[in-house]
Amino acid sequence: MSKAFDAVVAREENLLCRSYSRYPLAIVRGKGSRLWDVDGKEYVDLLAGIAVVGLGHCNDEICDALAAQSRKLWHVSNLFYQEEQLELAEKLLATTHHEKAFFCNSGAEANEALIKLARRYMRSVKQRDAFEIITLGNCFHGRTLGALAATGRESLSDGFTPLPEGFAQVPAGDLAALEAAISGKTAAVLLECVQGEGGVLPLPAEYLKGVEALCRKKDILLLCDEVQAGMGRTGKFWAFQNYDIRPDAISVAKSLANGLPMGAMLATSEAARGFVAGSHATTFGGGALVSAVAAKTIEIMQRDGLVERAGQLGAQVRAEAEALMRRLPGKIREVRGLGLMIGIELCEDGTEVWKELIRRGFICNLSHGVTLRLLPPLNVDKADLDAFLAVLEDILQGR
Ligand SMILES: *Cc1c(COP(=O)(O)O)cnc(C)c1O
Repeated sequence: MSKAFDAVVAREENLLCRSYSRYPLAIVRGKGSRLWDVDGKEYVDLLAGIAVVGLGHCNDEICDALAAQSRKLWHVSNLFYQEEQLELAEKLLATTHHEKAFFCNSGAEANEALIKLARRYMRSVKQRDAFEIITLGNCFHGRTLGALAATGRESLSDGFTPLPEGFAQVPAGDLAALEAAISGKTAAVLLECVQGEGGVLPLPAEYLKGVEALCRKKDILLLCDEVQAGMGRTGKFWAFQNYDIRPDAISVAKSLANGLPMGAMLATSEAARGFVAGSHATTFGGGALVSAVAAKTIEIMQRDGLVERAGQLGAQVRAEAEALMRRLPGKIREVRGLGLMIGIELCEDGTEVWKELIRRGFICNLSHGVTLRLLPPLNVDKADLDAFLAVLEDILQGR
């Protein structure tokens, strides 16, 4: 590592809470699918800030929209009507069967809104004392206390207990276990159609149809966490649309505003009936600046056909990764994903492979120590992905 990098690390040691384990990189600049570190070295970014910068870094059109809005209005709070919010809501709701939007600032907060919506709906609309949210094993819903309780992973809640009550978890893919877990106190099932942090695990289509049917039969809500898989990444605007299911409400965040912090919950009018004036709120949610940027993000995605492209390009890259798996027996266990959410699970611990990829200028994530996770910008050049696979082949061959 260089002197410049070491200096950044030493400085951070003294300043920030040690809650992150960082990659060995200090980034100073980005453009499209490229990043540059403190030493001026260039990287191909196939992570996009964890599926956040969907249109690439410092996208010119987004920069222009941001600059224009920054001179018009930033923030007035939700005490006021703001047309930027409405324009964004119209664009978002046109992509789905949902009818109502609530804006917030992050994925965890969007999931908190889902949880609160489900509980309110049961209590105030259905007049049932149903509050429990059932989630699936290996899920990730965020780090606030409610979202942590939903995530139900002890390694993440260590030292933070007690967590809020009213959460239960069943293994993903097991319909009988889900049915057995549903009781009179169940308000909703919350799931990711493609588990992201879990290591890029698409849930089986029959299972998701089965979950939906169970929710209808038991008269509880189906909630989808679209924080990572939503916004076009899987080749449909929303991941659930790959599976022909109709969740009552969904959460959105990561790439919603192409890197500005923003989240949203989208719900059917029926599911949203529990939210009345005063029942839920946030100071920053849907501010004019982030809303204008998010609206521009969606406009560009749709104009440039990036959603369809994500589906096609992702399928191509997965096929090529599978060919690589066959060429190099014993190196790659499985290639998974949907659209530009791609997981390449290695047969052995991938730490060294992942580090070597970074050394050779490719940034991706290593999930659970074995799965290389790619979440590139939706407008990434195919050549960048080709180059990644070529370098990966070279690295795996040499091992
Ligand atoms: C990242 C993520 C979250 C949490 O989002 P934050 O913005 O970090 O709070 C929740 N759910 C899923 C599926 C995610 O990928």
